[in-house]
Amino acid sequence: MKTMLIVFGLFVATTTAAVQAQTALSAPDWNSYQDMAVDLMRQYLRINTSNPPGHEIETAKFLKRIFDREGITSEIFEYKPARANIIARIKGNGLKRPIILLSHMDVVTADASAWRADPFAAEIIAGSIYGRGALDMKSEGLLHLMTMIILAREKPLLARDVIFIATADEEVKDEGSIWFIANHAELFKNAEYVITEGGDNLLDPAGKVKYVGVDVAEKAPFWLQLIARGQPGHGSRPIADSAPNRLARAMARIVNYETPIKLLPAVEKFFHDIALLQSEPWRSKFAEIRQSLNDPSFARELLNDREYNYMLRNTISLTMLSGSKQTNVIPNEASCNIDVRLLPGTDPQDFLAELKKVIDDPTIEFKMVNTFKPPNSSSIDSELFQVISEVTRANHPEALVTTKMLSGYTESQLYRQLGITCYGWAPIYTTAEENEGVHGNNERITVKNVREGTREMYTVVSRVAH
Ligand SMILES: [Zn+2]
Repeated sequence: MKTMLIVFGLFVATTTAAVQAQTALSAPDWNSYQDMAVDLMRQYLRINTSNPPGHEIETAKFLKRIFDREGITSEIFEYKPARANIIARIKGNGLKRPIILLSHMDVVTADASAWRADPFAAEIIAGSIYGRGALDMKSEGLLHLMTMIILAREKPLLARDVIFIATADEEVKDEGSIWFIANHAELFKNAEYVITEGGDNLLDPAGKVKYVGVDVAEKAPFWLQLIARGQPGHGSRPIADSAPNRLARAMARIVNYETPIKLLPAVEKFFHDIALLQSEPWRSKFAEIRQSLNDPSFARELLNDREYNYMLRNTISLTMLSGSKQTNVIPNEASCNIDVRLLPGTDPQDFLAELKKVIDDPTIEFKMVNTFKPPNSSSIDSELFQVISEVTRANHPEALVTTKMLSGYTESQLYRQLGITCYGWAPIYTTAEENEGVHGNNERITVKNVREGTREMYTVVSRVAH
């Protein structure tokens, strides 16, 4: 009897443990993962990786400590002093090609005096965590990190390797990814997918997700410097064709120049999809955008909206200016920089020729100030796009899932060249006002986004990697 009882007792205990293990497998303890996510988000934001100088080695070490603790293989590549990338991997059974979770660890600088809170303290105010990088893009990096942790602990069946990559220097010269692709592409080039920044998900002020825009294409920066030269002199005796005067005339022509409208298929789809969110008359106009743009007054109204203008044309922003260092000195040289963003499919040399015609002053010199990378795009006909759509619809039944062309540049552009389908997407939902924090002041993310995003990112990645 006694023996029997012990055996029986053991049996019960084993069964209970098995049941518990099973429960853990099918239902992760979300609450504790979400607490961990908020805590790690704050720790990550407190590491100052303002670029310049970047100093991403600190965040790389922070991430490596976590990967080591979780038993996840990872490696840091310090490609120059204090500048580093990190890669981590959870192996799948190889039936499908890997998926990469890509983020950059550097952030743009912050002017603390203009902020409500210290940009590197990760203070929580009224439900939001304040910090440089809270949206761009330590938050998405954190959701990737949490996905790795949860995969390592819950051990779901994986048909793909899940690869975590966090890079340095995206905000300045993209050295991190460029170096990584040039020197260690063998670690990830067979991947099928990249998930990274660039998605645009709009939350209305009442807290409802209006749309989820997956970034499948970006515009290409084509930065130019215009230089005017002329006779120098004293400010008291004006020179009609001085360098600053020539430059001012050229700038005035640029400012008044309206680049032609070009409607790309992905943009046409975007307008068609979001038509439902508009009230009339825009609802009907958006649904038939190609035709509607023939109406000059509608086209004018649309182009006056910064959110839509950039999708429909090549754009030019006047940014840097320089001339004399003294008020009474006419300099022999004056220059300005313009930030030109070209639509996919535009040849930069054609655009330059067009611009020269507009300026109509052959003495103005043009210099390219960045390395032009031809814009590219990814098809939406993929398992990953399907899974993102399904998971989004399940969590936000009223949200539209659409494609979005980004005005800015992302690293997708580099990884697409390896034949990888790259999407800008994250389950982070922000209001238009919160978006002002990206490269602006008071960048913040709601605690709710960190908590719920942890679950949503994991759901998408584990499902597509299954
Ligand atoms: Zn970014």
